[in-house]
Amino acid sequence: MPERRNVYFYHPMDTSMKEKVEPLYDLAQRYGFNIVKDYKDANIVISIGGDGTFLQAVRKTGFREDCLYAGITTSRKLSMYCDFQIDDTSKMIEAITNEQIEVRRYPTIDVTVDNQFSFKCLNEFSIRSAIIRPFVMDVFIDTLHFETFRGDGMIVATPTGSTAYNKSVNGAVVDPMLPCLQVTELASVNTNQYRTLGSSFILSGDRQLTLKVVQDGNDHPTMGMDNEALSVQHVESIHIKLSDSKIKTVKLKDNSFWEKVKRTYL
Ligand code: NAP
Repeated sequence: MPERRNVYFYHPMDTSMKEKVEPLYDLAQRYGFNIVKDYKDANIVISIGGDGTFLQAVRKTGFREDCLYAGITTSRKLSMYCDFQIDDTSKMIEAITNEQIEVRRYPTIDVTVDNQFSFKCLNEFSIRSAIIRPFVMDVFIDTLHFETFRGDGMIVATPTGSTAYNKSVNGAVVDPMLPCLQVTELASVNTNQYRTLGSSFILSGDRQLTLKVVQDGNDHPTMGMDNEALSVQHVESIHIKLSDSKIKTVKLKDNSFWEKVKRTYL
């Protein structure tokens, strides 16, 4: 990758991690890469840890469209966002010496809370009752009032996030080549008064999902952007749509989305 030379490593800073990552810093320098201390100077961001570290690396560096992201796992197994194992330096060398590196692009979603706070998610936006009581939301697809939800909460997942929280609650696994968002319920209460679809549904990238939290006292749900909780205490409305920006990762021989699904789950 001749045009990309500035690497930012993102990893926990503890002593045991320092020992593990030093050989990677040396390797990068040996192959002519500059290791930058400020992620704003980088055009390659490498996370070292697990999928959670990769999600944090993308968030802390601002979902950069002009960067190539790569995940190195410290565990024995490769995962959904980590295509390199920390001891497998030959695979890393093969990738960094490739003159014409190809990229995979992962869709992200844009979320706006109460028309005030906006952020992106790579896995999912989640909203859950913070107390042991269901809460109520009106769900709109574009301007259509689709359903009134009562239950524990909802997950709005990206295609790459479809294998995470979404999958644990029976959502479908979605190919990231389909730019879309998936809406999955968490324990809906279905009665004659409140009725929801009951199954996950997938919205095209041209649609907007709006959640309006009914202000009945239980309107302080917990909201999550990937693996980080939102500090917002109270919410009325949330707008969610597919983002124009995508996260670029390295395309390798063995890391198509379905190969990753197979290596992780089957
Ligand atoms: P964590 O508690 O350390 O681990 C959650 C697990 O999810 C880990 O095994 C992680 O992989 C895996 N994971 C993360 N993103 C994934 C993806 N896109 N596809 C498949 N597996 C994925 O938390 P974390 O590592 O920071 O991950 C945060 C994610 O956990 C959230 O974004 C949410 O999707 C998920 N989550 C799941 C549940 C559930 O399934 N009931 C509940 C809450 C949150 P690694 O081992 O490689 O890190």
